[in-house]
Amino acid sequence: MADTKSFHRGRRAKIIATLGPASRDPQTIADLYEAGADVFRLNFSHGSHEDHAKSVAAIRALEKEVGRPITILMDLQGPKLRVGTIQGGQVIIQTGANFRLDLDPAIGTAQRACLAHPEIFAALRPGKTILINDGHLRLRVKSCGKDFAETEVIVGGVLSDRKGVNVPDVTLPIPALTEKDRKDLEFGLSQGVDWVGLSFVQRPEDVAEVRKAVAGRAGVLSKLEKPSALDQLDAIVELSDSVMVARGDLGVEMPLEQVPVLQKRIVRACRKHGKPVVVATQMLESMIKSPVPTRAEASDVATAIYDGVDAVMLSAETAAGQFPVRAVATMHKIIQHVESDEHYLSLMRAGHAETEHSSPAAITAAAGQIAHTLKAAAIVTFTSSGSTTLRAAQERPDVPILCITPSLSAGRRLGLAWGVQALVGDFIQSVDDIGDVAVKGAARYGIGNDGQALVITAGMPFGKVGTTNMVRVVWIGGETKAS
Ligand code: PEP
Repeated sequence: MADTKSFHRGRRAKIIATLGPASRDPQTIADLYEAGADVFRLNFSHGSHEDHAKSVAAIRALEKEVGRPITILMDLQGPKLRVGTIQGGQVIIQTGANFRLDLDPAIGTAQRACLAHPEIFAALRPGKTILINDGHLRLRVKSCGKDFAETEVIVGGVLSDRKGVNVPDVTLPIPALTEKDRKDLEFGLSQGVDWVGLSFVQRPEDVAEVRKAVAGRAGVLSKLEKPSALDQLDAIVELSDSVMVARGDLGVEMPLEQVPVLQKRIVRACRKHGKPVVVATQMLESMIKSPVPTRAEASDVATAIYDGVDAVMLSAETAAGQFPVRAVATMHKIIQHVESDEHYLSLMRAGHAETEHSSPAAITAAAGQIAHTLKAAAIVTFTSSGSTTLRAAQERPDVPILCITPSLSAGRRLGLAWGVQALVGDFIQSVDDIGDVAVKGAARYGIGNDGQALVITAGMPFGKVGTTNMVRVVWIGGETKAS
């Protein structure tokens, strides 16, 4: 089990556990938290609103019990394309055969199936690829019109009811949010989720559209799984509050050998912009059925941690697997072990971009340096929006980050960020108080010993977003008032 009693649970990178039929009962949610889950993901591709409401209630009850903010990520299904139903549930389509996709709702056969998305036919061109069932079936468009595509089957196989369709080399003229997403979004926000995950982001405008709908009520996390998104990576990262390397669909839309390279590229871009980045999908996939992961899976988690990601995610392992709690505990152990490697910090920092030429960035970098020199117990950040804290996390300092904030929603959101633990308290009125409040906050989380330093960063005046403009050192057990 994770050391949940210690301030930072003995590690900096965070664990996201997806809830589902195997894990959404209150006791398992508590066990997942105890095992190390920092963020709970509600996947709106599955489950009813009632299911998700029960999960939120259980998480918020647990949060009250443990006295710390807990983070909830809602993941919208997005414009997931699917074929219609198929005769007898499934048919075999032969390699080399002709296969037609069209708008006709009639039941599908080995020669044709319904694809009820006219906007796709409008965007298709001869020569484009269509993938079905996670890329197991591959079709090439021979000719197309406004309501059909005639294709050649390049790789055949079993086609079954409602299988997913990917059109990798086309930017589809579809909105970022479907009708279902809009309803789910309003429901999730009414439940007080902290992050909204947006699937199949294709362009920066998609993120802008969702930001408008969310209207500051949660952070916006863009899931990168479309090649077209990677063409505008920096613009998407800048507009997003956080990003996920959604390797499931990314590995369908792109050749598999490109996924590890893209993962590193996305992680680098996010770290450069100071945006929390998550690596997701198949991290401990074999633990859906097995009590231990493969060596390769353990290594995959470790690679993400050495790359300095903010969080790693479990999907079916915790949502539908046989060993949800064990999967989290395993991930926790792997992360802890990597982070205690003497080379971890230097390897991880190799991915650190040059410090931005701004005063908040320079002050934050200086705080990290001071904390290192003084062997401080923690960096304490005072924030209302979370920006001072995210900046501290971007530096990936040697010491944990205690975020003190008057905003419960900021504290919850920061649960996704590397090395950050939040303490929600009263709004600080005067700069004279911050030393006392930092020392009391540290004591409340059992951080440090008498004589150890705390390095404080904050933005004055309090409440003004993006103004990290001060650094101070206070000593636990010493004089803390500003002189
Ligand atoms: C993915 O495709 O990797 C992913 C995380 O998205 P989802 O599980 O929602 O399909």
